[in-house]
Amino acid sequence: MDKTIRLYQQDPYLKSCDSKVVAVITDEAEIAELGGIEEKDTFCLVLDQTVFFPEGGGQPSDLGQISGESGTFELVYAFEKDNIVYHQLKIHSGSDFATTRETLKEITGTAVQCRLDWDRRFSHMQRHCGEHILSAVFYELYGGVNRGFHMGADYMTIDINLEENPEFTKMTDEMMSRAEWEANRMVWDNLPVTTRYFKSREEAEGLPMRKALNIDEDIVLVCVGDENKAAGCVACCGTHPHRTGEVGLIKIYRWDNYKGMTRITFDAGPNALENCRTEADLIKSLCRHYSADLDTLMDKIHLREQKSGEIRQELYELKQAYLAEKAQKISEALDGPDSILIEKYELLKADDLFALSKLLPELSQKLVSLVSLKENTLLLLSGGTPDCNKIIKDNAGVWGGKGGGRPNSARVMFPTAEDMDYFLEFIKKAY
Ligand SMILES: [Zn+2]
Repeated sequence: MDKTIRLYQQDPYLKSCDSKVVAVITDEAEIAELGGIEEKDTFCLVLDQTVFFPEGGGQPSDLGQISGESGTFELVYAFEKDNIVYHQLKIHSGSDFATTRETLKEITGTAVQCRLDWDRRFSHMQRHCGEHILSAVFYELYGGVNRGFHMGADYMTIDINLEENPEFTKMTDEMMSRAEWEANRMVWDNLPVTTRYFKSREEAEGLPMRKALNIDEDIVLVCVGDENKAAGCVACCGTHPHRTGEVGLIKIYRWDNYKGMTRITFDAGPNALENCRTEADLIKSLCRHYSADLDTLMDKIHLREQKSGEIRQELYELKQAYLAEKAQKISEALDGPDSILIEKYELLKADDLFALSKLLPELSQKLVSLVSLKENTLLLLSGGTPDCNKIIKDNAGVWGGKGGGRPNSARVMFPTAEDMDYFLEFIKKAY
Protein backbone atom coordinates (compact mmCIF):
# COMPACT_ATOMS: atom_id res chain seq x y z
CA MET A 1 0.00 0.00 0.00
CA ASP A 2 1.11 3.58 -0.69
CA LYS A 3 1.69 6.01 2.16
CA THR A 4 -1.50 7.78 3.24
CA ILE A 5 -1.46 11.43 2.16
CA ARG A 6 -1.95 13.48 5.33
CA LEU A 7 -3.81 16.59 4.33
CA TYR A 8 -3.57 18.06 7.84
CA GLN A 9 0.17 18.46 7.34
CA GLN A 10 -0.27 21.01 4.54
CA ASP A 11 -3.41 22.53 6.04
CA PRO A 12 -4.21 21.87 9.70
CA TYR A 13 -7.41 23.92 9.27
CA LEU A 14 -8.95 21.52 6.74
CA LYS A 15 -12.18 20.19 8.24
CA SER A 16 -13.25 17.72 5.55
CA CYS A 17 -12.01 15.95 2.44
CA ASP A 18 -13.00 13.50 -0.29
CA SER A 19 -11.05 10.26 -0.25
CA LYS A 20 -10.92 6.89 -1.96
CA VAL A 21 -11.09 3.66 0.02
CA VAL A 22 -7.84 1.74 -0.51
CA ALA A 23 -8.52 -1.16 1.85
CA VAL A 24 -11.14 -2.47 4.28
CA ILE A 25 -10.14 -4.53 7.33
CA THR A 26 -12.97 -6.33 9.13
CA ASP A 27 -11.05 -8.96 11.07
CA GLU A 28 -10.92 -7.95 14.76
CA ALA A 29 -7.69 -9.83 15.45
CA GLU A 30 -6.02 -8.11 12.51
CA ILE A 31 -7.21 -4.69 13.72
CA ALA A 32 -5.81 -5.39 17.20
CA GLU A 33 -2.50 -6.50 15.73
CA LEU A 34 -2.20 -3.33 13.64
CA GLY A 35 -2.66 -1.21 16.78
CA GLY A 36 -6.39 -0.51 16.90
CA ILE A 37 -8.28 -0.06 20.15
CA GLU A 38 -10.35 -2.82 21.71
CA GLU A 39 -13.91 -1.96 20.76
CA LYS A 40 -16.65 -4.27 19.57
CA ASP A 41 -18.26 -4.02 16.13
CA THR A 42 -15.59 -1.89 14.51
CA PHE A 43 -13.73 -2.13 11.24
CA CYS A 44 -10.87 -0.22 9.66
CA LEU A 45 -10.57 1.79 6.48
CA VAL A 46 -7.38 2.80 4.72
CA LEU A 47 -7.85 5.86 2.50
CA ASP A 48 -5.67 7.43 -0.19
CA GLN A 49 -5.75 10.72 1.77
CA THR A 50 -7.10 11.88 5.10
CA VAL A 51 -7.84 14.92 7.28
CA PHE A 52 -7.76 12.78 10.41
CA PHE A 53 -4.72 13.02 12.66
CA PRO A 54 -3.74 9.57 14.01
CA GLU A 55 -2.69 9.42 17.65
CA GLY A 56 1.00 10.16 18.05
CA GLY A 57 3.62 12.34 19.70
CA GLY A 58 1.41 12.77 22.74
CA GLN A 59 -1.54 14.12 20.74
CA PRO A 60 -4.75 12.07 20.86
CA SER A 61 -6.48 10.77 17.75
CA ASP A 62 -8.97 12.93 15.87
CA LEU A 63 -12.62 11.92 15.81
CA GLY A 64 -15.36 12.55 13.24
CA GLN A 65 -17.33 10.73 10.56
CA ILE A 66 -16.69 8.99 7.29
CA SER A 67 -19.64 8.77 4.85
CA GLY A 68 -20.06 6.79 1.66
CA GLU A 69 -22.59 4.75 -0.27
CA SER A 70 -22.99 2.34 2.68
CA GLY A 71 -23.82 5.15 5.09
CA THR A 72 -22.09 7.23 7.70
CA PHE A 73 -19.68 5.70 10.20
CA GLU A 74 -18.37 7.20 13.43
CA LEU A 75 -14.61 7.33 13.72
CA VAL A 76 -13.60 5.91 17.10
CA TYR A 77 -9.84 5.95 16.60
CA ALA A 78 -7.26 6.86 13.97
CA PHE A 79 -3.83 5.29 14.22
CA GLU A 80 -0.74 4.89 12.15
CA LYS A 81 1.47 1.98 11.21
CA ASP A 82 4.27 2.02 8.65
CA ASN A 83 3.13 5.34 7.16
CA ILE A 84 -0.42 4.10 6.67
CA VAL A 85 -3.24 5.83 8.58
CA TYR A 86 -5.95 3.41 9.75
CA HIS A 87 -9.44 4.72 10.47
CA GLN A 88 -11.23 2.53 13.00
CA LEU A 89 -14.98 2.97 12.59
CA LYS A 90 -18.07 1.80 14.42
CA ILE A 91 -20.68 -0.09 12.37
CA HIS A 92 -24.25 1.18 12.70
CA SER A 93 -25.85 0.32 16.00
CA GLY A 94 -28.44 -2.40 15.68
CA SER A 95 -27.09 -3.75 12.41
CA ASP A 96 -25.78 -7.28 12.19
CA PHE A 97 -22.01 -7.27 11.93
CA ALA A 98 -21.81 -10.54 9.99
CA THR A 99 -23.87 -9.18 7.07
CA THR A 100 -22.41 -5.69 7.40
CA ARG A 101 -18.93 -7.21 7.18
CA GLU A 102 -19.71 -8.71 3.76
CA THR A 103 -21.12 -5.47 2.35
CA LEU A 104 -18.22 -3.49 3.80
CA LYS A 105 -15.70 -5.42 1.74
CA GLU A 106 -17.42 -4.13 -1.40
CA ILE A 107 -16.65 -0.49 -0.63
CA THR A 108 -12.98 -0.87 -1.57
CA GLY A 109 -12.27 1.59 -4.38
CA THR A 110 -15.35 3.75 -3.73
CA ALA A 111 -15.38 7.42 -2.79
CA VAL A 112 -16.03 8.57 0.79
CA GLN A 113 -16.26 11.93 2.53
CA CYS A 114 -14.32 12.57 5.76
CA ARG A 115 -15.62 15.10 8.26
CA LEU A 116 -13.55 16.13 11.25
CA ASP A 117 -14.78 16.88 14.78
CA TRP A 118 -13.23 20.32 14.44
CA ASP A 119 -13.82 21.65 17.98
CA ARG A 120 -11.93 18.71 19.43
CA ARG A 121 -9.11 19.01 16.89
CA PHE A 122 -8.74 22.76 17.31
CA SER A 123 -8.55 22.32 21.08
CA HIS A 124 -5.77 19.76 20.51
CA MET A 125 -3.96 22.26 18.28
CA GLN A 126 -4.25 24.97 20.93
CA ARG A 127 -3.14 22.67 23.71
CA HIS A 128 -0.27 21.18 21.73
CA CYS A 129 0.97 24.61 20.76
CA GLY A 130 0.59 25.73 24.38
CA GLU A 131 2.93 22.93 25.34
CA HIS A 132 5.51 24.09 22.75
CA ILE A 133 5.30 27.65 24.08
CA LEU A 134 5.68 26.72 27.74
CA SER A 135 8.57 24.35 26.98
CA ALA A 136 10.26 27.09 24.94
CA VAL A 137 9.92 29.50 27.86
CA PHE A 138 11.46 27.09 30.38
CA TYR A 139 14.34 26.50 27.98
CA GLU A 140 14.86 30.17 27.26
CA LEU A 141 14.55 31.44 30.85
CA TYR A 142 16.14 28.67 32.92
CA GLY A 143 17.81 26.17 30.54
CA GLY A 144 15.10 23.65 31.43
CA VAL A 145 14.66 20.79 28.96
CA ASN A 146 11.31 19.08 28.39
CA ARG A 147 11.97 15.37 29.09
CA GLY A 148 8.38 14.10 29.11
CA PHE A 149 4.98 15.14 27.81
CA HIS A 150 1.48 13.86 28.43
CA MET A 151 -1.80 15.19 27.06
CA GLY A 152 -4.75 13.90 29.08
CA ALA A 153 -8.40 14.81 28.76
CA ASP A 154 -8.33 17.19 31.73
CA TYR A 155 -4.76 18.48 31.84
CA MET A 156 -1.31 18.19 30.31
CA THR A 157 2.01 17.58 32.02
CA ILE A 158 5.60 18.31 31.04
CA ASP A 159 8.67 17.14 32.93
CA ILE A 160 11.29 19.87 32.96
CA ASN A 161 14.91 19.05 33.78
CA LEU A 162 17.08 22.03 34.72
CA GLU A 163 20.25 21.06 32.89
CA GLU A 164 21.40 23.70 30.41
CA ASN A 165 21.94 26.71 32.66
CA PRO A 166 24.12 26.20 35.80
CA GLU A 167 22.53 29.34 37.28
CA PHE A 168 19.29 27.42 37.83
CA THR A 169 19.38 24.13 39.74
CA LYS A 170 16.14 24.31 41.71
CA MET A 171 12.62 25.33 40.68
CA THR A 172 10.80 27.96 42.73
CA ASP A 173 7.27 29.39 42.79
CA GLU A 174 8.66 32.68 41.45
CA MET A 175 10.29 30.93 38.48
CA MET A 176 7.03 29.12 37.76
CA SER A 177 5.00 32.29 37.97
CA ARG A 178 7.36 34.13 35.66
CA ALA A 179 7.32 31.27 33.13
CA GLU A 180 3.51 31.31 33.04
CA TRP A 181 3.54 35.06 32.45
CA GLU A 182 6.15 34.86 29.68
CA ALA A 183 4.28 31.99 28.00
CA ASN A 184 1.12 34.09 27.88
CA ARG A 185 3.13 37.04 26.60
CA MET A 186 4.13 34.85 23.65
CA VAL A 187 0.41 34.24 23.09
CA TRP A 188 -0.37 37.98 23.16
CA ASP A 189 2.53 38.68 20.77
CA ASN A 190 0.70 36.46 18.27
CA LEU A 191 3.94 34.98 16.93
CA PRO A 192 4.00 32.84 13.79
CA VAL A 193 4.11 29.04 14.24
CA THR A 194 5.95 27.57 11.27
CA THR A 195 6.18 23.97 10.16
CA ARG A 196 8.98 22.77 7.92
CA TYR A 197 9.32 19.31 6.37
CA PHE A 198 12.59 17.50 5.74
CA LYS A 199 13.07 14.18 3.96
CA SER A 200 16.19 13.22 5.91
CA ARG A 201 17.97 13.88 9.18
CA GLU A 202 20.88 15.50 7.25
CA GLU A 203 18.56 18.14 5.79
CA ALA A 204 17.12 19.07 9.18
CA GLU A 205 20.27 18.92 11.25
CA GLY A 206 22.23 22.11 11.44
CA LEU A 207 19.09 24.12 12.11
CA PRO A 208 18.68 25.44 15.62
CA MET A 209 16.67 22.97 17.72
CA ARG A 210 15.79 22.61 21.41
CA LYS A 211 16.22 18.83 21.36
CA ALA A 212 18.35 16.42 19.34
CA LEU A 213 16.49 14.50 16.64
CA ASN A 214 15.57 10.90 17.29
CA ILE A 215 14.13 10.11 13.86
CA ASP A 216 15.95 9.72 10.56
CA GLU A 217 13.42 10.60 7.87
CA ASP A 218 10.25 12.57 7.22
CA ILE A 219 11.14 15.11 9.87
CA VAL A 220 8.71 17.87 10.75
CA LEU A 221 10.29 20.86 12.47
CA VAL A 222 7.88 23.13 14.31
CA CYS A 223 9.02 26.61 15.36
CA VAL A 224 7.20 28.95 17.67
CA GLY A 225 8.40 32.50 16.99
CA ASP A 226 11.93 33.05 15.71
CA GLU A 227 13.06 30.13 13.52
CA ASN A 228 16.68 30.93 14.29
CA LYS A 229 16.29 30.42 18.04
CA ALA A 230 16.60 26.90 19.38
CA ALA A 231 14.18 27.50 22.28
CA GLY A 232 11.06 27.50 20.10
CA CYS A 233 12.07 24.89 17.51
CA VAL A 234 11.51 21.19 17.93
CA ALA A 235 10.68 18.12 15.85
CA CYS A 236 6.98 17.34 16.21
CA CYS A 237 4.38 15.40 14.25
CA GLY A 238 1.33 17.04 15.86
CA THR A 239 -1.02 19.68 14.50
CA HIS A 240 -0.56 23.36 15.39
CA PRO A 241 -2.31 26.66 14.71
CA HIS A 242 -0.57 29.21 12.48
CA ARG A 243 -0.12 31.81 15.20
CA THR A 244 0.41 31.68 18.96
CA GLY A 245 -2.53 34.03 19.56
CA GLU A 246 -4.91 31.19 18.71
CA VAL A 247 -3.77 29.32 21.82
CA GLY A 248 -5.73 31.90 23.83
CA LEU A 249 -4.51 31.14 27.33
CA ILE A 250 -1.85 29.05 29.10
CA LYS A 251 -2.36 28.23 32.76
CA ILE A 252 -0.11 26.31 35.15
CA TYR A 253 -2.24 24.33 37.63
CA ARG A 254 0.51 23.01 39.90
CA TRP A 255 4.08 21.77 39.98
CA ASP A 256 5.77 18.91 41.81
CA ASN A 257 9.23 17.46 42.16
CA TYR A 258 9.39 14.34 40.04
CA LYS A 259 12.41 12.04 39.72
CA GLY A 260 14.84 14.94 40.08
CA MET A 261 12.84 16.97 37.54
CA THR A 262 9.85 19.26 37.82
CA ARG A 263 6.49 17.93 36.67
CA ILE A 264 4.29 20.82 35.61
CA THR A 265 0.55 20.27 35.31
CA PHE A 266 -1.06 22.83 33.06
CA ASP A 267 -3.42 23.40 30.16
CA ALA A 268 -4.09 25.76 27.29
CA GLY A 269 -7.01 27.06 25.26
CA PRO A 270 -10.61 26.32 26.33
CA ASN A 271 -9.49 23.76 28.94
CA ALA A 272 -7.43 26.42 30.72
CA LEU A 273 -10.39 28.82 30.63
CA GLU A 274 -12.69 26.14 32.04
CA ASN A 275 -10.23 25.58 34.88
CA CYS A 276 -10.12 29.33 35.62
CA ARG A 277 -13.93 29.42 35.70
CA THR A 278 -14.19 26.40 38.02
CA GLU A 279 -11.71 27.96 40.43
CA ALA A 280 -13.40 31.35 40.25
CA ASP A 281 -16.83 29.77 40.93
CA LEU A 282 -15.40 27.96 43.93
CA ILE A 283 -13.87 31.15 45.31
CA LYS A 284 -17.17 33.00 44.75
CA SER A 285 -19.06 30.36 46.77
CA LEU A 286 -16.44 30.57 49.51
CA CYS A 287 -16.79 34.35 49.59
CA ARG A 288 -20.57 34.02 49.89
CA HIS A 289 -20.21 31.39 52.59
CA TYR A 290 -17.88 33.57 54.66
CA SER A 291 -19.55 36.89 53.74
CA ALA A 292 -16.18 38.01 52.45
CA ASP A 293 -14.59 39.44 49.34
CA LEU A 294 -11.28 38.43 47.73
CA ASP A 295 -9.29 40.69 50.05
CA THR A 296 -10.89 39.47 53.27
CA LEU A 297 -11.61 35.80 52.49
CA MET A 298 -8.46 34.30 54.01
CA ASP A 299 -8.69 36.51 57.11
CA LYS A 300 -12.28 35.43 57.64
CA ILE A 301 -11.39 31.75 57.23
CA HIS A 302 -8.57 32.11 59.76
CA LEU A 303 -10.87 33.94 62.15
CA ARG A 304 -13.47 31.17 61.87
CA GLU A 305 -10.80 28.53 62.53
CA GLN A 306 -9.55 30.43 65.54
CA LYS A 307 -13.06 30.73 66.94
CA SER A 308 -13.84 27.04 66.46
CA GLY A 309 -10.53 26.21 68.16
CA GLU A 310 -11.57 28.30 71.14
CA ILE A 311 -14.97 26.60 71.24
CA ARG A 312 -13.34 23.18 71.14
CA GLN A 313 -11.11 24.12 74.07
CA GLU A 314 -14.07 25.50 76.03
CA LEU A 315 -16.08 22.34 75.35
CA TYR A 316 -13.17 20.19 76.47
CA GLU A 317 -12.86 22.07 79.75
CA LEU A 318 -16.60 21.91 80.41
CA LYS A 319 -16.65 18.21 79.70
CA GLN A 320 -13.73 17.58 82.05
CA ALA A 321 -15.56 19.47 84.80
CA TYR A 322 -18.78 17.56 84.08
CA LEU A 323 -16.98 14.18 84.16
CA ALA A 324 -15.18 15.05 87.41
CA GLU A 325 -18.53 15.93 89.02
CA LYS A 326 -20.11 12.67 87.82
CA ALA A 327 -17.09 10.68 89.06
CA GLN A 328 -17.44 12.30 92.46
CA LYS A 329 -21.13 11.33 92.57
CA ILE A 330 -20.36 7.70 91.68
CA SER A 331 -17.58 7.53 94.29
CA GLU A 332 -20.06 8.61 96.95
CA ALA A 333 -22.67 6.08 95.81
CA LEU A 334 -20.07 3.30 95.91
CA ASP A 335 -19.84 3.74 99.66
CA GLY A 336 -23.48 2.61 99.90
CA PRO A 337 -24.73 -0.98 100.33
CA ASP A 338 -25.76 -1.66 96.68
CA SER A 339 -23.56 -4.19 94.87
CA ILE A 340 -24.54 -2.80 91.48
CA LEU A 341 -24.70 0.79 90.31
CA ILE A 342 -26.25 1.90 87.02
CA GLU A 343 -25.68 5.48 85.82
CA LYS A 344 -27.42 6.69 82.66
CA TYR A 345 -26.25 9.76 80.69
CA GLU A 346 -28.12 11.69 78.00
CA LEU A 347 -25.10 13.71 76.89
CA LEU A 348 -22.17 11.29 76.99
CA LYS A 349 -20.91 9.12 74.17
CA ALA A 350 -19.05 5.81 74.52
CA ASP A 351 -15.65 7.53 74.44
CA ASP A 352 -16.75 9.87 77.23
CA LEU A 353 -17.74 6.84 79.32
CA PHE A 354 -14.16 5.59 79.06
CA ALA A 355 -12.85 8.98 80.14
CA LEU A 356 -15.26 8.90 83.09
CA SER A 357 -14.19 5.36 84.05
CA LYS A 358 -10.57 6.57 84.34
CA LEU A 359 -11.65 9.00 87.07
CA LEU A 360 -13.27 6.34 89.28
CA PRO A 361 -11.65 4.77 92.37
CA GLU A 362 -10.91 1.03 92.81
CA LEU A 363 -14.18 -0.90 92.48
CA SER A 364 -13.35 -4.10 94.48
CA GLN A 365 -16.49 -6.31 94.49
CA LYS A 366 -18.92 -3.76 92.99
CA LEU A 367 -20.32 -3.75 89.48
CA VAL A 368 -20.79 -0.37 87.81
CA SER A 369 -22.56 0.27 84.52
CA LEU A 370 -22.09 3.60 82.76
CA VAL A 371 -24.73 4.04 80.04
CA SER A 372 -24.69 6.29 76.99
CA LEU A 373 -28.33 6.83 75.98
CA LYS A 374 -27.05 8.66 72.92
CA GLU A 375 -25.33 5.57 71.49
CA ASN A 376 -27.20 2.66 73.16
CA THR A 377 -23.83 1.66 74.54
CA LEU A 378 -22.81 0.77 78.03
CA LEU A 379 -19.58 0.24 79.85
CA LEU A 380 -19.43 -2.45 82.53
CA LEU A 381 -16.78 -1.97 85.24
CA SER A 382 -15.66 -3.97 88.24
CA GLY A 383 -12.54 -4.79 90.25
CA GLY A 384 -12.18 -7.92 88.07
CA THR A 385 -14.88 -9.85 89.92
CA PRO A 386 -17.51 -10.24 88.67
CA ASP A 387 -15.95 -10.67 85.21
CA CYS A 388 -17.42 -7.89 83.01
CA ASN A 389 -16.27 -9.50 79.76
CA LYS A 390 -17.86 -12.82 80.70
CA ILE A 391 -21.17 -11.17 81.69
CA ILE A 392 -21.35 -9.50 78.28
CA LYS A 393 -20.18 -12.51 76.27
CA ASP A 394 -22.60 -14.87 78.05
CA ASN A 395 -25.72 -12.67 78.09
CA ALA A 396 -25.73 -9.52 75.91
CA GLY A 397 -26.24 -11.53 72.72
CA VAL A 398 -29.77 -12.43 73.83
CA TRP A 399 -30.78 -8.78 73.20
CA GLY A 400 -28.56 -8.30 70.17
CA GLY A 401 -25.73 -6.68 72.14
CA LYS A 402 -22.24 -6.79 70.59
CA GLY A 403 -19.01 -6.16 72.42
CA GLY A 404 -16.56 -7.39 75.03
CA GLY A 405 -13.34 -6.39 76.74
CA ARG A 406 -11.44 -7.34 79.87
CA PRO A 407 -12.62 -8.74 83.25
CA ASN A 408 -12.53 -5.29 84.86
CA SER A 409 -13.86 -3.26 81.89
CA ALA A 410 -16.00 -4.24 78.91
CA ARG A 411 -18.21 -2.40 76.48
CA VAL A 412 -21.38 -3.45 74.67
CA MET A 413 -23.61 -1.80 72.11
CA PHE A 414 -27.30 -2.61 71.55
CA PRO A 415 -29.52 -2.20 68.48
CA THR A 416 -32.18 -0.25 70.45
CA ALA A 417 -32.66 1.48 73.82
CA GLU A 418 -35.26 -1.16 74.69
CA ASP A 419 -32.79 -4.02 74.17
CA MET A 420 -30.30 -2.22 76.38
CA ASP A 421 -32.94 -1.81 79.12
CA TYR A 422 -33.70 -5.54 79.10
CA PHE A 423 -30.02 -6.28 79.57
CA LEU A 424 -29.73 -3.75 82.42
CA GLU A 425 -32.80 -5.31 84.12
CA PHE A 426 -31.17 -8.69 83.78
CA ILE A 427 -27.85 -7.72 85.42
CA LYS A 428 -29.70 -5.80 88.15
CA LYS A 429 -31.42 -9.04 89.12
CA ALA A 430 -28.45 -11.33 88.63
CA TYR A 431 -25.86 -9.29 90.57
ZN1 LIG B 1 3.71 19.87 18.51
